[in-house]
Amino acid sequence: MAVEEHELAVVGGGPAGLTTGIYAARSRVDAILLEAKPLTGGQILLADVIENYPGFPEPLSGAELIEKMQKQAERFGLQFGTAEVTNVRALKRKYLLESAKADYLAEAVVVATGTESRKLGVPGEEDFWGMGVSTCATCDGPLYGDRPVAVVGGGDSAVKEAVYLAKFASKVYVIHRRDRLRAEKIIQEQAFAQEKLEFVWYTVVTEMVGGDNGLTGLKIKNVETGNERELDVDCVFIYVGVEPNTGFVKDLVELDESGLIVTDEDMRTSAPGIFAAGDCRSKTLKQVATAVGEGAAAAFSAQEYITGGPYAGSG
Ligand code: NAP
Repeated sequence: MAVEEHELAVVGGGPAGLTTGIYAARSRVDAILLEAKPLTGGQILLADVIENYPGFPEPLSGAELIEKMQKQAERFGLQFGTAEVTNVRALKRKYLLESAKADYLAEAVVVATGTESRKLGVPGEEDFWGMGVSTCATCDGPLYGDRPVAVVGGGDSAVKEAVYLAKFASKVYVIHRRDRLRAEKIIQEQAFAQEKLEFVWYTVVTEMVGGDNGLTGLKIKNVETGNERELDVDCVFIYVGVEPNTGFVKDLVELDESGLIVTDEDMRTSAPGIFAAGDCRSKTLKQVATAVGEGAAAAFSAQEYITGGPYAGSG
């Protein structure tokens, strides 16, 4: 197995990882950014519209923002590798990052692996995955022009994407297990003003049904009354939260009860030389704006650690 050696390995190519890479490469740190898929970006690629990232008065898509960050990183000489890191081993003053294709040796590691979409785990979900069950309205929404669709969840993602889907679909049911949304007020206002949206409160999906051509409907249940019925939809978009991608470092760094990485304010984890930034960190606010700030801090802390600088700290 080939072993590539760098001063810094950044794992994950979303806003946090790319910002770490931009700061590190610009500071002349020999850094490589490892991403499981050839396309960098992570969860933000699923966002159709970002309108609260400072510096962009007009809304832009997650894909557009990532492309700009990637170009900026390339300009400073950040190296990119396509590898899914499955395990990290602590060696003497270095870490070995293992993947199926190659191993990477680094003095410091920044974990910026974010999260992945949670599934509902109901019958039919796996059967119709990609055939009417989706976690990406931007990718699949345009396929369902003038047809009824459903969104499950009441957070920012669900409500925002439901508003987006109303551009195409004939009807968008928003199925939520309570009668209050978790989404930001401004996103709620947009949703309540959209006539194509119908909120189905106190309701959960119990089964996904369909045939050879894909999904045709959902079996749903009102959790207050126990009433069950079927809803005819051609696609269901699931936005019921996310799971952290932190399993590959779980034996090295402290995680909270949700599996998120615990850091100090300088992004140091419990393991010397391992830092974390972005949505895989234990924190309250998960935004592009916070991810990039954490990426910058992680790059600085990693550089201090590598060079033994005055801010190297105990981590
Ligand atoms: P989230 O905030 O965790 O919301 C998940 C939603 O799914 C909640 O409404 C939850 O219901 C519901 N849910 C969870 N498990 C469920 C289940 N098994 N069955 C049915 N419903 C279930 O997740 P998110 O919307 O993906 O957002 C993740 C983070 O990214 C958040 O911090 C969010 O603020 C941020 N984000 C921000 C923006 C933005 O534009 N500002 C956009 C997207 C995401 P309950 O409400 O009852 O718990």
